[in-house]
Amino acid sequence: MEEQQNGGGAEAEEALGSRLTMEKVAAAKQFIENHYKSQRKSIQERKERRWILERKLATSDVPKEEQMHLIKDLERKETEYMRLKRHKICVDDFELLTIVGRGAFGEVRLCREKKSGNIYAMKKLKKSEMLKRGQVEHVKAERNLLAEVASHCIVKLYYSFQDAEYLYLIMEYLPGGDIMTLLMREDTLTENMAKFYIAQSVLAIESIHKHNYIHRDIKPDNLLLDKNGHMKLSDFGLCKPLDCRTLSTLKENETMDDESLTEPMDIDGCFPDADNRCNWKSPREQLQHWQMNRRKLAFSTVGTPDYIAPEVLLKKGYSMECDWWSLGAILYEMLVGYPPFYSDEPITTCRKVPHLAYFFDSILILL
Ligand code: ADP
Ligand code: MG
Repeated sequence: MEEQQNGGGAEAEEALGSRLTMEKVAAAKQFIENHYKSQRKSIQERKERRWILERKLATSDVPKEEQMHLIKDLERKETEYMRLKRHKICVDDFELLTIVGRGAFGEVRLCREKKSGNIYAMKKLKKSEMLKRGQVEHVKAERNLLAEVASHCIVKLYYSFQDAEYLYLIMEYLPGGDIMTLLMREDTLTENMAKFYIAQSVLAIESIHKHNYIHRDIKPDNLLLDKNGHMKLSDFGLCKPLDCRTLSTLKENETMDDESLTEPMDIDGCFPDADNRCNWKSPREQLQHWQMNRRKLAFSTVGTPDYIAPEVLLKKGYSMECDWWSLGAILYEMLVGYPPFYSDEPITTCRKVPHLAYFFDSILILL
């Protein structure tokens, strides 16, 4: 009997092994096919570029000798391009320098490209960690957004690659620190300063919306300053592409399947700040408490709910407006010193946000 069972186990193992081999063979075949398909395509494109140039020259009055020179020049550039394409960039191409930031999934380091000497910021994300927390789609969206959107208000992405353990994003380095640190240092900003940073944030948010992405995580820690004090939006780890055919809002089941944002709240019958009523704080105390907690919140994986729009917190279906909500909360913090729904406990903030939003909506309707 036991022998029979063992025999059955061996057979199952063998079947599994051969299935895995078949899958590997199919993957290798696909890889080779794709490789040759893309090679054929680039040879074709190269021929077309030469043909276009020759046709242009034939109808121009450029002297024959100069024509030969231009064609040779094109060929030289094409060869150089092929050579660069063959070189696969990897982590060894960079000299790793100091750590400039830590995020929920890895670190951000200053690094120097060995060949050019250029300085970049390298964001390194651990693959197993991303898989475990269901973040794969978000990393893909982050990489695609950075590559697609060319705006001077968005951190520029130069390369992205991976090895067995990590994914790497090589971005421009912004040495001015972030708005969170600025706010912690300054308490509040003047109206003119606030206007300046908010105007730059508006440009940044508009540029990603134009490409049909929602950021969903607009907060002072993700607004970085360059060497001239200009602000750029970074950290697209939670960004979400909208369906550009329908420009639909994201509904409950399409929204956060990740752990990064708070669970939907059961808010029935709870008064804003119900838990906090006997815990009333003066604005000064509120400011002190906020400052004590600020950095702790920034480094937690769940993050702070202070800037998250009510529809996102409630998983009610949302669209691009949620980024504007977050910017409103930041403007309030810049002028007052702490964000509008701040509370000792993040859970109380989560309750305040939808309730107060409902309250404001009702007032607007009455007006
Ligand atoms: P996470 O998704 O984990 O929050 P971020 O992309 O926000 O990761 O990076 C974490 C921190 O690293 C930022 O708050 C910032 O201080 C620093 N950082 C990120 N990108 C850059 C950059 N391009 N230049 C300088 N510092 C950066
Ligand atoms: Mg961040």
